[in-house]
Amino acid sequence: MSITTQTSVVERLNASIRDVPDFPQPGILFKDITPVFLDWQLCNDIADALVSGLSSQPDAVCVVESRGFFIGMLLAQKLRIPLIPVRKKGKLPAETRAFTYTLEYGTATLEIHKGVIKNGWNVLIHDDVLATGGTAAAAAELVKAEGGQVAGFAFIVELSFLSGKEKIAGYTPHIESVISY
Ligand code: AMP
Repeated sequence: MSITTQTSVVERLNASIRDVPDFPQPGILFKDITPVFLDWQLCNDIADALVSGLSSQPDAVCVVESRGFFIGMLLAQKLRIPLIPVRKKGKLPAETRAFTYTLEYGTATLEIHKGVIKNGWNVLIHDDVLATGGTAAAAAELVKAEGGQVAGFAFIVELSFLSGKEKIAGYTPHIESVISY
């Protein structure tokens, strides 16, 4: 057994995440996951950990722009299911459905392509970080508005002190993350 497989995915993830103070604005401690992508084995193990936490097979995975895209594609490949991007306003080229939600200062709008989710599909939602939960809730609203059901949320990191789980608990009991701070 190699040293890599002896060390848990949580320990390796914790060692790999870089804390960047005051980004993108003063007072925010940004959890930078880009160093994780330098380690293909760790990326693979993160996706395996999230897949093994699922209690049922979803029909599709919805991935949130932009840092949800990276591990999101691995999830889609491992689960052998469609990947559906949720993007910021104006990025998706075909007909879209939009959902606008409130941020600390101002609002943000996320979009999904219309007609991609088949009626009744169980959709897993993935993003890199669960912070306040506003982004994940917006993705869930888009999934529901397109006729899907939220099968679960899968994050790499949860910032538990921001209580994002409370905001999204009403959509599904399945909320998982590899590491929680
Ligand atoms: P929220 O809607 O507050 O849950 O924020 C979630 C989104 O913002 C995710 O897409 C994250 O990528 C990003 N985000 C929020 N806070 C942080 C943080 N402290 N470190 C890294 N990413 C964050």
